[in-house]
Amino acid sequence: MRRVLIVGGGQSGLQLALSLLAHDYDVTVMTVHDPDELHMGRAVSVQILYDEPRRAEREYDLGFWDDAAQPITDFRISASGEMPPFDWTGRLAAPAQSIDERVKMSTWLDLFEHRGGKVIIHGATVSDLDHLAEMFDLTIIAAGHSGLAEMFSVDSARPLARMPPVATAIAYVEEIDGNPDRDGIGVDLVPGLGHMISWPTYSVNGRCRLVFLTGPADGALADWPKRITPQGHLDRMLDLMREFLPHRYEVYAGAELADDQAVALDQANPLVRHPAARTPSGRLVMGMGDTVVVTSPALQQDANNASKAAEIYLRSILEQEDAPFDEEFMSRTFARYMEYAGHFTGEIAARLHYTPPYVIDMCVAANRDQELADRFVNGFNDPPGLASWFVDEETTRAIITKGEGTR
Ligand SMILES: Cc1cc2nc3c(=O)[nH]c(=O)nc-3n(C[C@H](O)[C@H](O)[C@H](O)COP(=O)(O)OP(=O)(O)OC[C@H]3O[C@@H](n4cnc5c(N)ncnc54)[C@H](O)[C@@H]3O)c2cc1C
Repeated sequence: MRRVLIVGGGQSGLQLALSLLAHDYDVTVMTVHDPDELHMGRAVSVQILYDEPRRAEREYDLGFWDDAAQPITDFRISASGEMPPFDWTGRLAAPAQSIDERVKMSTWLDLFEHRGGKVIIHGATVSDLDHLAEMFDLTIIAAGHSGLAEMFSVDSARPLARMPPVATAIAYVEEIDGNPDRDGIGVDLVPGLGHMISWPTYSVNGRCRLVFLTGPADGALADWPKRITPQGHLDRMLDLMREFLPHRYEVYAGAELADDQAVALDQANPLVRHPAARTPSGRLVMGMGDTVVVTSPALQQDANNASKAAEIYLRSILEQEDAPFDEEFMSRTFARYMEYAGHFTGEIAARLHYTPPYVIDMCVAANRDQELADRFVNGFNDPPGLASWFVDEETTRAIITKGEGTR
């Protein structure tokens, strides 16, 4: 029986661990927090899974929240202020879902142990890995975007492999009466700040709303206090809404935290790393999820990517049968994964990040063209599909013109 060590109990690590167990692999997960600590701890980040990436969860009976969580069906995108205004809602062909990681990962970690997986609660260091990797056929590092991620060098040959750092202030709040976004995702492009984004989620106290402000780390979100109470954190987010988005502030002014640890602040460097690294004594380890690919939170892809990585790595591991998990295996598997995840690290990311005039024109056109609005938002569920038509200025303008022509 092949032995696999997975370092990190997040979306990608636990999904892969649970699915490998189902194929009778001997799997060990090493992670920092036990299920109780996870469940009772502070909020970690934001997460949304579109329908396609959820397929692998369903296949391995890991989707426990279909009745509890609100299906996310609508996707609004708006801009005002210095930009030409637009405000439209696309319909997702199949619902997305958001489950607070405190709920999902504590449940999955318990389940993994219950199904016979081995769990080590310990924050691994590089020198731990030096010893441990020798004892396993394959060691995967899925420990998020900082810490052990530094073992993996940045792939600077990749176009746009590195985007400017972003800061994200996050709060889970009780759903608000009269919120026009009640059924779905709301995205506001906010000049001077970045994005305000929210969606319905399922958290430690049940259904609520996840809201976050994300933008350049040296912009309006810079200098976030290190020591701040959860209420102070929410108040600061509301102050920014009042300054940059007075009409949304009117909706959120009375927002209440969904639990007393319902906030987080994260700094991320969107980048792509090489998938393989060596420990000091030369043992090979492989990166997965945020450890090797981080996009901007405004693109809403990192949890999708983490889930697709688990699905694609699983397929490659099964196909490898008894062959060694060498560097060639790692490059091949990662290349396969990047056929999915690469789009939101390259040109599409740049287009959505820097919103050149033709992208704004497309958003304005979607105000009048429901088909275009639907087509665009469903691209978040299908990055390769989006990449097939959201190609460049010429193609985008042709699509706008065609829409105008058929109305
Ligand atoms: C600020 C922010 C914004 C985000 N925005 C979005 C978004 O808009 N849409 C979206 O879908 N996703 C978003 N995500 C990402 C989504 O939450 C994660 O991408 C996804 O959960 C990544 O899964 P992962 O398995 O790679 O890592 P994580 O879920 O981060 O899991 C890493 C795990 O490794 C453990 N760990 C860390 N260090 C060690 C160590 N040394 N030893 C052992 N274990 C360790 C951690 O405790 C954790 O359990 C965002 C994340 C952040 C932080």
